[in-house]
Amino acid sequence: KSTAVRNIDGSINNIKEDDEEDVVDLAANSLLNKLIRQSLVESSHHVEVLQKDPSSPLYSVKTFEELRLKEELLKGIYAMGFNRPSKIQEMALPMMLAHPPQNLIAQSQSGTGKTAAFVLAMLSRVNALELFPQCLCLAPTYELALQTGRVVEQMGKFCVDVQVMYAIRGNRIPRGTDITKQIIIGTPGTVLDWCFKLKLIDLTKIRVFVLDEADVMIDTQGFSDHSIRIQRALPSECQMLLFSATFEDSVWHFAERIIPDPNVIKLRKEELTLNNIRQYYVLCEHRKDKYQALCNIYGSITIGQAIIFCQTRQNAKWLTVEMIQDGHQVSLLTGELTVEQRASIIQRFRDGKEKVLITTNVCARGIDVKQVTIVVNFDLPVKQGEEPDYETYLHRIGRTGRFGKKGLAFNMIEVDKLPSLMKIQDHFNSSIKQLNAEDMDEIE
Ligand code: ADP
Repeated sequence: KSTAVRNIDGSINNIKEDDEEDVVDLAANSLLNKLIRQSLVESSHHVEVLQKDPSSPLYSVKTFEELRLKEELLKGIYAMGFNRPSKIQEMALPMMLAHPPQNLIAQSQSGTGKTAAFVLAMLSRVNALELFPQCLCLAPTYELALQTGRVVEQMGKFCVDVQVMYAIRGNRIPRGTDITKQIIIGTPGTVLDWCFKLKLIDLTKIRVFVLDEADVMIDTQGFSDHSIRIQRALPSECQMLLFSATFEDSVWHFAERIIPDPNVIKLRKEELTLNNIRQYYVLCEHRKDKYQALCNIYGSITIGQAIIFCQTRQNAKWLTVEMIQDGHQVSLLTGELTVEQRASIIQRFRDGKEKVLITTNVCARGIDVKQVTIVVNFDLPVKQGEEPDYETYLHRIGRTGRFGKKGLAFNMIEVDKLPSLMKIQDHFNSSIKQLNAEDMDEIE
């Protein structure tokens, strides 16, 4: 039995289930990102804007006051600790709040303030005195819907008469019930049922329609079609907004189908680079050998915190046991854990409670732990057929150029993996030096 999974670069990989390789689950990663988020993510790039009407003036705001929001909404924003709009919000908010409403497609990596922006738009357009659904937000999973709902509740803390309802599995409402809450957040399947089967939502009365995490959405079977069916029943004056962290062609095609006459905003991601990283490899014969090499490295240099990547859960577990027996403080992060458990492990690691984090591909990207000085590839990331997985290599080891401190990376390589490593070296045009396992003096 095998499962098709998406690689980080979007290509498809077939993985046998008994391989125990952890696969990248887009929705889980997205949730994890939200749970461990501590602040806004910066980008040094400029926001790119494509207006549907290029002749209309382009506004951007540097303060929330300029937006002339309702008093209670402004209070909510400041109560969340926001001082000024994020980079993407500077451009997106004036468009989203314009009269007449404008449609928008916005793309920027997670953590740049998209959710806060559309929550603000929904809260600002809602009429608290009208007791029926006016804003509809689609999210890819139950958990992500709840996360967005929390933001609505926080930001709308002082908008006392505005209420949120969740159209998610398990929330059973009898057919024909009169829903008095103004903001509905849900997953496409349940929302579809609520609209057409149970007649709980009158789509012709919706003023703001948000499609969040479009890249995750189209990755889920059926969700694009559900979303399009919902969108087709909206009135033409309804404002339509779509957000995505990544923008491959498939996302773009979907966005264009579902958002008529959009403005488009993009904020490019800070690129990862290997420039600040000194990379080494040690030739090993087997797993025990690799572990010995790891111990030698530990014996010869002072290590702050380290992340060690293994290709399978089984290897990760084995290594964890070995290291604990040798007295290291280690934690293990694999795909068997729930997203909440993963978030708490990452938090403990960030707080320095453990010095070593052993993990599989489940978190090759995402966990950004500033104090990590060393990354170890206990197994080299490979795709099927021993083809190196360049993207994963970069995500494990790379740092963003602007914020990156210097780092060290070690690859434990069986002889038969050496060609793959050389391919990685060529691909990134960077040097990976050999280390002698018994003599680590060469590490500067
Ligand atoms: P995204 O939806 O792009 O992932 P979020 O809207 O969730 O981003 O914002 C990421 C983090 O930054 C959240 O913790 C959020 O509370 C915070 N945030 C959003 N906008 C601002 C702002 N203008 N000022 C300060 N923090 C902000």
